[in-house]
Amino acid sequence: MATFKDFRNNVKPNWCPGCGDFSIQAAIQRAAANVGLEPEQLAVISGIGCSGRISGYINAYGLHGIHGRALPIAQGVKLANRELTVIASGGDGDGFAIGMGHTIHAIRRNLNITYIVMDNQIYGLTKGQTSPRSAEGFVTKSTPEGSIESTLSPLEIAMSAGATFVAQSFSSDLKQLTALIEAGIKHEGFSLINVFSPCVTFNKINTYDWFKERVVNLEQFPDYDATNRIAAMNKIMETEGMLTGLIYQNTERKSYEDMIPGFQPEALAKQDLALSQDQFDSL
Ligand code: SF4
Ligand code: MG
Repeated sequence: MATFKDFRNNVKPNWCPGCGDFSIQAAIQRAAANVGLEPEQLAVISGIGCSGRISGYINAYGLHGIHGRALPIAQGVKLANRELTVIASGGDGDGFAIGMGHTIHAIRRNLNITYIVMDNQIYGLTKGQTSPRSAEGFVTKSTPEGSIESTLSPLEIAMSAGATFVAQSFSSDLKQLTALIEAGIKHEGFSLINVFSPCVTFNKINTYDWFKERVVNLEQFPDYDATNRIAAMNKIMETEGMLTGLIYQNTERKSYEDMIPGFQPEALAKQDLALSQDQFDSL
């Protein structure tokens, strides 16, 4: 059985020392081993940005895609080979700006894949511009007078789009993050895990200490019911989006694959899609 070390390769990440993305890579590797996967059973599909490099740093199938398009590729991979565990990953700029249309419709579609957003509230790869997750008043090269746009709340958007699994974590909390990725992989449907992942080089506001002082761990609320959609929405708003843990899960709704008639076992059994050796040789 594979251990997390089997999901390592010999590519040295070129993230800045201290970048939150290192922990997310480690958490994916641990979660994959903990749920019993072998490297050839996993595909990691990423977008563009510092975070997008993650697909090259994990020993598994991988594809470093194009900006904002990790999810269309990941969904195609999953539909082509439903035996694969598919993780899509990218930054807040990738998934919540250029890729937001895909994010909302992937949530609605509910394919059985896990989407991990590395949320540093800035564009890191292009050296520090305001992202949809930056706070109002945030000063960067692109907003020297401070951002005048409102901050996007991915958790509220996911809930209103009909998400069946919504979680949030912090890259400093490897234990919680690993457990959430395991739960996301096991969830039969689309799982969104937004992860606060500090950019130590270009974001001097949303630092490790800044997040540590503000995150609200759901463990503080022992009576919280993660199957209650209204309670989830209320708690997200009460905590101004800083809630961490498994915020909402709906296990009643079937995944997209489970609702396509042609994908069901009886339908598949009727199709003889395998090529004979003669047919194969004649290609
Ligand atoms: Fe991480 Fe920021 Fe460095 Fe990019 S620029 S690798 S996000 S610390
Ligand atoms: Mg970013």
